[in-house]
Amino acid sequence: MRQPLVVGNWKMHGSRDEAAKLVGGLIQKLGGCQAEIVLCPPFVFLADVADLLSKSSVGLGSQDVATQVQGAFTGEVAAEMVADIGCRYVIVGHSERRTLFGESDALVAEKVAATLRAGLVPIVCVGETAQQRDAGITEEVIAGQLNTVFERLGGADEFVQSRAVVAYEPVWAIGTGVTAEPQQVVQVHQFIRGLLGKLGAASRVLYGGSVKPENAAELFELEDVDGGLIGGASLDIDSFSAICAAAD
Ligand code: PEP
Repeated sequence: MRQPLVVGNWKMHGSRDEAAKLVGGLIQKLGGCQAEIVLCPPFVFLADVADLLSKSSVGLGSQDVATQVQGAFTGEVAAEMVADIGCRYVIVGHSERRTLFGESDALVAEKVAATLRAGLVPIVCVGETAQQRDAGITEEVIAGQLNTVFERLGGADEFVQSRAVVAYEPVWAIGTGVTAEPQQVVQVHQFIRGLLGKLGAASRVLYGGSVKPENAAELFELEDVDGGLIGGASLDIDSFSAICAAAD
């Protein structure tokens, strides 16, 4: 039985004060939640949020990591550093990192390995652009993204056994208000489950892309959907707590 997981990706939003208010409000509302909840604030707020979450069951994650352990890598943050702060998860290969910062499948695979090296759980984002979907190559794109990670780790079984999470995030649905149709979500999640191989039933596969309180329950009830990666709606206490409740 896979415990549902809901991850809030704050991206580059908020101030220190707003982060504290958001966490305070969420802790009050998420008390009885059965799903696992994880917040991923910007790096600079991780330590504050770790303190605020220390007596709650809500977990902490970072939005990215470097591949290196330490050294002369100005501006980078190692997986070991975010582990030291109290993170349990790392979002890796978000489409904004892939498209805006040129992260290749190979670099994403290195970041997954770096995350595991530090004892953290990677949330590996995969998904097709609108053009790729229109060209009929959605599965090819996702297979390429995931297989590069599997090869880096030694195989799909190693990926599953590491407890890594997959987040299917169609690029055209992220931050656009357009949500994938249920049958599109089911089709891709089943395809991902197949790629995960014989042990794949153990892995959590999340959906991300314009999840809101109005559509969360319908999405989370779908076969092979084990929760969500939430962007915009994770910045609002009422919206995010309603989405978390929908995953219960
Ligand atoms: C995301 O950033 O991963 C995301 C899914 O964003 P949104 O929920 O705003 O579409």
